[in-house]
Amino acid sequence: MAWRATVLTIFPEMFPGPLGLSLAGKALNAGIWSLDAIDIRAHAENRHDKVDDTPAGGGPGLVMKPDVLARAIDAAATDARPRLLMSPRGTPLTQMRVMELAQGDGAVIVCGRYEGIDERVIASRRLEEVSVGDYVLSGGEIAALALVDACVRLLPGVMGKQASGTEESFADGLLEYPQYTRPAVFDGMPIPEVLTGGDHAKVKAWRRAEAERLTRERRPDLWAAHQARKKAPPGKA
Ligand code: SAH
Repeated sequence: MAWRATVLTIFPEMFPGPLGLSLAGKALNAGIWSLDAIDIRAHAENRHDKVDDTPAGGGPGLVMKPDVLARAIDAAATDARPRLLMSPRGTPLTQMRVMELAQGDGAVIVCGRYEGIDERVIASRRLEEVSVGDYVLSGGEIAALALVDACVRLLPGVMGKQASGTEESFADGLLEYPQYTRPAVFDGMPIPEVLTGGDHAKVKAWRRAEAERLTRERRPDLWAAHQARKKAPPGKA
């Protein structure tokens, strides 16, 4: 069965958006994955029913109402797919979580707007809060697009030869090595000789060393985790 994304939003017209183009778009047309963008407003009781209201306790902005959102979730999430809420308070999204999601049946994804959503609907519908980074977007839609994009490119048949993604950034807990292509010299800079010498073992060793160097320099956090894993392989921790 195709991987299925169900997105709950007050802006369904934002979908598939960029995911209708390029590899994700081709895979969508080919039926490798599917997308339902559900309008939360359609679950308001009547045309005058609001989807948002003023925050209890005062303060600026509006909060999405739990009753309307719960109805939308109940109508959409009738299966066992994970229910995610895009939220700056959530667990930061990692490639590991993306891989798990891509291996499952899909996801139900709730997009907040305004000041966020009523806490009680998070609890009662057991939503898993997921963040795309330590910054604040104006709504969950762009975060949802990022999450779905990251999952879809891992689905079998989407990336062609590269499909395993095993050489990419984060696959081994490391950032990716630098890439080059023609011309042989650009702005006075040649392609590193090892890459054009045809010695595959040397190429592999160079890439590994560069990946380690970049990770050490740029992401001490990832580097420390990588080192820790090497000392205690999974299962032996
Ligand atoms: N007042 C809230 C921010 C609300 S932003 C706070 O300070 O936490 C409005 C919506 O945008 C959120 O409900 C969430 O769905 C989405 N959003 C904003 N930043 C995000 C992030 N970094 N990751 C995932 N979703 C985010």
